Amino acid sequence: MSKVLVVEDEQHLADGLRFNLEAEGYQVQVTDTGEAALEVLKADPAAFDVVVLDVMLPGKDGFSVMSEMRGAGQFVPTLMLTARGHPNDVLKGFAAGADDYLTKPFDLAILIARIRGLLRRREWLTRSMNTPATSPPAPDVFKFGDKSVDFDRLELRVRDQTFPLTLMEANVLRYLIQHDGKPVSRKKMLEEVWNLHEDTDTRAIDNFIVRLRRYIEDDPVKPRHVLTVRGVGYRFMSEPDKEE
Ligand code: CA
Repeated sequence: MSKVLVVEDEQHLADGLRFNLEAEGYQVQVTDTGEAALEVLKADPAAFDVVVLDVMLPGKDGFSVMSEMRGAGQFVPTLMLTARGHPNDVLKGFAAGADDYLTKPFDLAILIARIRGLLRRREWLTRSMNTPATSPPAPDVFKFGDKSVDFDRLELRVRDQTFPLTLMEANVLRYLIQHDGKPVSRKKMLEEVWNLHEDTDTRAIDNFIVRLRRYIEDDPVKPRHVLTVRGVGYRFMSEPDKEE
């Protein structure tokens, strides 16, 4: 049975979520503050399969909770509930490490579908890690220089170091890699990676790039793989030496 942690301070909404998720066969725990959620996750990092995290919470808000979770190496798939009409909150949530989002008020059926999607992704992940060596699946790995991205395991390997990626970080990286050598605009990335068409502050993408550079680049101040294209956006170069 999949376990869902719901972090929501509005009692009626939390109760409604619990009721409906339990009806779908999930085991649900509710906390009404971010601090309590962090405690629960710290006590047993493997206790939950999905977290539903509200942005507006008393005390620590959802963004802080999200980044603290990721900072502490807690990579449970997390869906954030953001306020309608604040598209920048969506990007702020993703930048903090969220995997998905819904704006309030939301349709319960959609929420359940999103949770299923996150669980499915997690299942694939676990399965690909436990597959016996005799029948290896075609690995979804991209290598460049002394680095590689494993899109199945959501891992970035740089020499002997391994960095876990959130789904969104992996999506951004995949998008850049798919356009290897070509400039991609922030607006296009917003549309195609985040599915955001609203009038969003495209600079929010830059937070993602800063983090990816921190993993990928030997000197993040002088990037060689993830380049800034002035006035446009970014360009990924798998083999930067070829053009120099
Ligand atoms: Ca709330």
